[in-house]
Amino acid sequence: MRPNILVIAGHDPSGGAGIHADIEAIQSTGGFASTLITALTVQNSRKVSSFQLTPLELLEQQANALLADYEFQAVKIGMTGSVATVEWIARLLARLPGVPVVLDPVLAAESGGSLAQGDLNEALMDRVAPQATVLTPNLPEAGQLSGETGVAEAGAALTRRCGRAVLVTGTHDDTDQVANHLFQGEHHRQWEWPRLPEVYHGSGCSLASAIASLLARGLPLEDAVGDAQAWLHRTLQHAWQPGGGQFVPDRS
Ligand code: PLP
Repeated sequence: MRPNILVIAGHDPSGGAGIHADIEAIQSTGGFASTLITALTVQNSRKVSSFQLTPLELLEQQANALLADYEFQAVKIGMTGSVATVEWIARLLARLPGVPVVLDPVLAAESGGSLAQGDLNEALMDRVAPQATVLTPNLPEAGQLSGETGVAEAGAALTRRCGRAVLVTGTHDDTDQVANHLFQGEHHRQWEWPRLPEVYHGSGCSLASAIASLLARGLPLEDAVGDAQAWLHRTLQHAWQPGGGQFVPDRS
């Protein structure tokens, strides 16, 4: 049986990021995805134009229907979109005690468009992060959430603040290698990957979902984080360009 992963994230109609990325990544790494879609975005492979949030009453009805029927082996959180949705997610997580949670604190798209109404930093860090197993911010998100600029400083500040593991991904750094850093209290581990030439859409979503899927299959955190990066690297090596903008990982 495939483990069931509850994905709470936004929809990207261009198919590169968001829910599409999550379902494909989870399918490809051995899991099954159930989805609660927090927002519908307007975007293509070049830019995000706008988004509309899903009413919380509808999300609540969907969540009630799923929880009455399914058991979940992991939760993956991506785009939340508003403080009210973040707070609703925090209440939902309280109904899933003991289930591993991967929090990808999505604040903006790779192309720069905002994916948040207002400032989500405090709500994400105070309400959801303490219930997460691991946070997976990229460097700009880690900087925004912690107020620090360097990878080490931002990662250490975030893990100290919420007491959870934090994987800071280095895609946005200007180094030759992409270095991803896992911070767990005082423990630090680093992985390096050759920097690939294109700009990719949905790599953060794919990585976080693969980690959730592997945690759901019972892997220890460091193994799930390492194996998910190796899987993502392969999808990026075979990425393709469906339009005129960013490349999309091949998650098949
Ligand atoms: N979630 C949604 C709905 C998005 O549209 C995007 C980017 O456009 C993201 C998440 C973040 O994508 P990435 O994995 O490229 O950081």
